Amino acid sequence: MQLKIDLHVHTHYSHDSLITPEELVFYAKKRGLDGVAVTDHDRLDGALKIAKETDFLIIPGIEISSLNGHVIGLNLQEPIPSKLSVNETVDKIHESDGIAVACHPVTSFKGSLGRHINSKFDAVEVINSSAIPFNYSVRHSQKIASRLGISCVAGSDAHYGPEIGYAYTLVDADLEVDEIVKAISNGLCLPFGRAIPLKTMLKKELLLLKRKF
Ligand SMILES: [Zn+2]
Ligand SMILES: [Zn+2]
Repeated sequence: MQLKIDLHVHTHYSHDSLITPEELVFYAKKRGLDGVAVTDHDRLDGALKIAKETDFLIIPGIEISSLNGHVIGLNLQEPIPSKLSVNETVDKIHESDGIAVACHPVTSFKGSLGRHINSKFDAVEVINSSAIPFNYSVRHSQKIASRLGISCVAGSDAHYGPEIGYAYTLVDADLEVDEIVKAISNGLCLPFGRAIPLKTMLKKELLLLKRKF
């Protein structure tokens, strides 16, 4: 079965996201996705709660602020602490039976891993729809993934409902979280997607500003 999954979405459990659980499912279905990974910054409770409350496929994940840059852990039941080295972070994800994704590895302004990526990772996020500069980021991330010989995935890094689904990973697996992450680490996946339009990003920034005041 070919599944379309956005592997990088933030909900309002991330301080910098506007997406409610209802919007998450609404936009994911609207974009024709089969599932999404909820990857809030340094917390897993929202993802676990949403996964329990909806029939839509949610992969519980977390975007961890490691000492060397952001790391995504997918298919977790326990949060992974922040501020560990990249190697300790990846080890902890594996000990918890999750998979480790090097998200936006070369992007500016995002806490990127850069040269800290290694072959212990299960996948590299080669397409991140919020990455700046987008084309440069895709090209270089692809090079890193092929040099390390690990899987390539994609996610929108959405922080606003309409941003969901601008990138997705096509995964050859049954509609079940364990099967999906196994397929990803075995390379049975392909990244697709494009940059979020500037207009949509600006709308998001405006709404985030409004929320502040
Ligand atoms: Zn990040
Ligand atoms: Zn993110």
